Amino acid sequence: MKLSEHFKLEEFERSATAQRLNVDNRVPEALIPNLQALCENVLEPLRQQFGEPVYISSGYRCYALNNYVKGALKSQHMKGEAADIYSKQGAKRLREWYLWMVDNLVFDQLIWETRPNGSKWIHVSYKRTGPNRQQVFTCRK
Ligand SMILES: [Zn+2]
Repeated sequence: MKLSEHFKLEEFERSATAQRLNVDNRVPEALIPNLQALCENVLEPLRQQFGEPVYISSGYRCYALNNYVKGALKSQHMKGEAADIYSKQGAKRLREWYLWMVDNLVFDQLIWETRPNGSKWIHVSYKRTGPNRQQVFTCRK
């Protein structure tokens, strides 16, 4: 199922961890409009600006999956309001995405995530029913 021109529902449900744990990570119907709003307002404009794919490493998380990956207690991933995204062009391009989004998009939270093993990604959330707080953080663990 298509959520927007370039994003499919399956991309938000896919999780190797959920598969391994045999957890049903399908998005409840009631949350689909939230994912559509995230796509239309954040992911599609980003994709359009750079003209290249935006990959999702973690989209929707059911309660069990979020619990397992030690997500925040009220993680927006559980509401279909958040996605972790990455670029196959590397960290420099990811940083360009991040800076462009800070200046040009409406979002709830934008987090630059880095880990000691060198992995980097952007967590971005959007609230369909608002208000979107335009919060920007860096998270190093
Ligand atoms: Zn996230």
